[in-house]
Amino acid sequence: MQQLSNRLDWFTESIIRKMTRIANKYEAINLSQGFPDFDPPKELIENLQKVAVEGPHQYEITWGSKEFRKKLAEKQKKFMGIDINPEENIVVTCGSTEAMIVAMMSVCNPGDKVIVFSPFYENYTADAILAGAEPIYVPLIPPEFNYDKEALRRAFEQRPKALILCNPSNPVGKVFTKEELLYIGELANEYDTYVITDEVYEHIVFKPNKHTYLASLPGIFERTISCSSLSKTYSITGWRLGYVIANKDVIENCKKVHDFLTVGAAAPLQKAAIVGLDFEEEYYEELVNTYERKKKLFLDGLDQIGLKYFEPQGAYYVLVDISEFGEKDDYKFCEWLAKEIGVAAVPGSGFFREEVNNYIRLHFAKKDETLIEALNRLKKLKRK
Ligand code: GLN
Repeated sequence: MQQLSNRLDWFTESIIRKMTRIANKYEAINLSQGFPDFDPPKELIENLQKVAVEGPHQYEITWGSKEFRKKLAEKQKKFMGIDINPEENIVVTCGSTEAMIVAMMSVCNPGDKVIVFSPFYENYTADAILAGAEPIYVPLIPPEFNYDKEALRRAFEQRPKALILCNPSNPVGKVFTKEELLYIGELANEYDTYVITDEVYEHIVFKPNKHTYLASLPGIFERTISCSSLSKTYSITGWRLGYVIANKDVIENCKKVHDFLTVGAAAPLQKAAIVGLDFEEEYYEELVNTYERKKKLFLDGLDQIGLKYFEPQGAYYVLVDISEFGEKDDYKFCEWLAKEIGVAAVPGSGFFREEVNNYIRLHFAKKDETLIEALNRLKKLKRK
């Protein structure tokens, strides 16, 4: 038989999705793949019922329904503070997962380099390779996970086509400051590099941190490709509604790639989600308060158990240090944790370029009772 594609030799299957399968196998509480176990806002569910009867049930415009793009442009304009033309600056995608790969394929040629901060969300390596590009990694240094300015400049000196910026970041919950973003923007302008952002946690930022949209900073919109989704903001990860916002020329390319990859995001779900895009400011305040409370509940619990972690500034993940357990293989540790303790986590090594295997990633996007039960189970860790 002919050999299958060797593109896939360069990355493994998703460890995050694999941990969900392991969680299901052992019936563990799934704090690995980041998604809520609580319902989306009732307005969305009620609207979905209405849409089920009234439609649409056929293809929408490939780059997103007119009404969805109009409402999305209005909402993002309010938060990002920039002018967004729904006809020229938006492509609606199947989640930000598609938005990211569309963005990468729209800007990269085979052999191009792409800067990725490490630790990073695992999709970025696969995205880069599928787009024919080569990732170059710049470490984010614990405990603050700041980048070293010189190391970043050296990466830019390799003339990358793009930099990928996850802000707030997965898996460490770092929220990049305006100064850090301005420096990234300065280098991007100096070295003529695109910046592809993944901002799916834009509305989950803990006080006193503030989310700054790179695209909103002076002189950087033209080279920023902002990707995000409705998944985390409205607790609808399964609806797969994401988008790319960028300048008209970039969007022309993104429309083409998106059209041939998926044709379009689900028409009924676009229609049903529009009510969310219409929510007032209070919804977003309430969302962040909810996560602020969950973060406190979960981290207080980890403190009581005596587990060490890095406190996130945003998103809903926490990297927990497992050095004290003496297991050198974090993957084995996670499998054991799911099977014997009944809690599923993601092995930290899946997020790092560096040889790091003393962390696991847990998330707290769960009902309070789920988090309390998970903490009760984790207590057993110290009773061994
Ligand atoms: N972003 C989520 C995570 O990091 C889920 C990603 C996914 O599986 N699509 O767990």
